[in-house]
Amino acid sequence: MRKEPLSGKELSALVDGLNRLARNLWWTWNQESQEIFQELSPRCWQTLYHNAVAVLHEVSNEELRSRLRDPAFQERVRRVLGMFEDYLKAGNTWCQTHAPALAEPSVAYFSAEFGFHETLPIAAGGLGVLAGDHAKSASDLGLGFVGISLFYREGYFMQSINHENWQTEYYTLLNPENLPVESVLDDNGEPLVCDVEIGLNRVFFRAFRANIGRVPVYLLDTDLPENEQHERDLTLRVYGGDTTTRILQEILLGIGGVRLLRALNVQPAVYHMNEGHAAFLTLELIREKLAGGASLDDAIARTRSQCIFTTHTPVAAGHDRFSANLMHFALNRYLDVSHLTLDQVMPLGRVHPNNAEELFCMTVLALRLSRCANAVSELHGQVSRQMWHALYPARPVDQVPIGHITNGVHLLGWMKGTLRRYWRRKLSPHAPVILTPAPPSEESTFWETRPPGRWDDDINTPEFWKRLGDPAFVSDEELWALRYKLRRELIEFARRRLLFHAQRISQRDFIAFDHLLNPDALTIGFGRRFATYKRAPLVFQQFDNIVKLVHDKERPLQFIFAGKAHPRDDSGKRFIQHIIHLSRYSELQGHLVFLENYDVHVARQMVSGCDVWLNNPRRPLEASGTSGMKGSCHGCLNLSILDGWWREGYNGSNGFAIGDDSHPDNIEEQDRRDSENLYRVLTEQVIPCFFDRDDQGIPRKWIQRIRNAMTTLVPQFTTERMVREYIQHYYLA
Ligand SMILES: *Cc1c(COP(=O)(O)O)cnc(C)c1O
Repeated sequence: MRKEPLSGKELSALVDGLNRLARNLWWTWNQESQEIFQELSPRCWQTLYHNAVAVLHEVSNEELRSRLRDPAFQERVRRVLGMFEDYLKAGNTWCQTHAPALAEPSVAYFSAEFGFHETLPIAAGGLGVLAGDHAKSASDLGLGFVGISLFYREGYFMQSINHENWQTEYYTLLNPENLPVESVLDDNGEPLVCDVEIGLNRVFFRAFRANIGRVPVYLLDTDLPENEQHERDLTLRVYGGDTTTRILQEILLGIGGVRLLRALNVQPAVYHMNEGHAAFLTLELIREKLAGGASLDDAIARTRSQCIFTTHTPVAAGHDRFSANLMHFALNRYLDVSHLTLDQVMPLGRVHPNNAEELFCMTVLALRLSRCANAVSELHGQVSRQMWHALYPARPVDQVPIGHITNGVHLLGWMKGTLRRYWRRKLSPHAPVILTPAPPSEESTFWETRPPGRWDDDINTPEFWKRLGDPAFVSDEELWALRYKLRRELIEFARRRLLFHAQRISQRDFIAFDHLLNPDALTIGFGRRFATYKRAPLVFQQFDNIVKLVHDKERPLQFIFAGKAHPRDDSGKRFIQHIIHLSRYSELQGHLVFLENYDVHVARQMVSGCDVWLNNPRRPLEASGTSGMKGSCHGCLNLSILDGWWREGYNGSNGFAIGDDSHPDNIEEQDRRDSENLYRVLTEQVIPCFFDRDDQGIPRKWIQRIRNAMTTLVPQFTTERMVREYIQHYYLA
């Protein structure tokens, strides 16, 4: 530790460093950085919802400089800034070793939403969270990656529940000054402005850059005085408004996104469309080639060789489709300048190109214009090949060219702060880093070249998590204590939040919030979008039985629910209403709560504190699902239909399965069967296992399941693994 006082210049360097750090979301997966911002103003940290940039605005320069003169604090800031610099500069990244061609900016990833952190709420759900995790792992691996999305000024809606237990939506204006984004500037230091033809006009846009570790994600924004008001409002809300808004937003994303890359002088080798929303980018790539003198066929073929596509939607109605009239209106001016005609474009988005009745489908455009395409789990791959078989009539269904790469999560980003330190202490220092030799197959894992001992690299390796199979690293007693601690943290979080929201609507019914929920009870969580196929209330179909279970004094059970319904989805809102009603006015009161305004922060609390994560979608509609993956590293076990990722993850001893690897075609029959099966696993497996305690009061078998989940699931379902698969099978191909 330095004893001599800092010079003014050194102080300024630390202040600058902290400001740079706050504007790079790397700090969200680095515990030490997070703690520095938190310590600067614990209260603001909480009230400003963990916003490092806003905290720095709250702390005056005077205060910051004074506090940096404290040698201990200064030392920590130096260490964090050192780690940050090391991360940004690191040589020998995975990509430099295994895919050097991709270490320079080479992959442009377009997504209508990105979820990075609670301070930047521009994602509607799992698709955006996945895109955010993809970017974080791309950064960790040293992939030359550029993300493209929109800067939604009002973000995704905030949920509040009114007196009738009905979801209402409200929006808050995001202020870029107070967010971890930086304005993209031109050579003169002015905001860089580009334009794109949308409808009958030229629409101008600027961009903000979110720094995700080593990689940039650019967020396009049309809120400029040059534009008419309705154009300025194009980037107001995530999937805002009707089909017309949607197509206009998608033109901005796809075509505008490519224009921005050109303005920044970026020529990616690969364009990755995350879901069909971004597929108009193919038109702009075709236009560029036509402008260079290529024929249409040639331009299409060359564009195809640059693009890859990931589909996420097993629901037929979930794919964007536009009428020829709407296409004519939305692409009017664009077609004029691009030497393309509507008659050339429409067939690209139709299964039967010459069927004038058929709507234009963004997924079809993406499939036709990609050199390869993938679904997001094995079962989803099967469903997608079936679904798009008509596009490839000459092939048998199992040869439809849609593969699959199962989704994952960014481990350090999802791990609760306290746990990051815990695992590092427990699993890192004891063991020498075990280096596996390169396996013979090309499916290899690549740990052998990592510098030993770097915890944030180590943590994604199977070897790291294998240590959990050995009680010498962490005993049953320690694991059980950890589960208690995380469950209590969740319950106290839930109590605070419920009290806060009850005060807001001055709820008159008296509820003793400090006694709500039981820290000894088996706690079952359900948190995700309230799309009806996810069947949130399924478990309550056996209402009388569930009431008996929650009132069992010896083996108590409780439920924590959260999730948003789409603003126009009244069925989803009725599910919410029903569950809140049960939580307040039925025999489940005190044993069931609904937490408002589900977002990534609420998700992190829930997947870490719950003992069981419940997922009961109508199979096979859950393309992958990712929230259950976030629980494994916290010791939360999955109880799920064998759909999406869980069909691949479940091995009989690392969680629980509802039903088997099949489903009836009849929906009523499926719902009836699944609810019976759910109740059966709950009573025959989950509850007995959780409450089977030895004379020390420890549920050994439950803890064994937690160990199994940690060793088998955690390293497998990461975006680190997922992005490596994209690189090997798609980006490099
Ligand atoms: C992880 C996550 C999701 C996705 O959950 P699924 O189980 O895949 O539906 C949605 N919303 C938020 C806020 C998340 O963190």
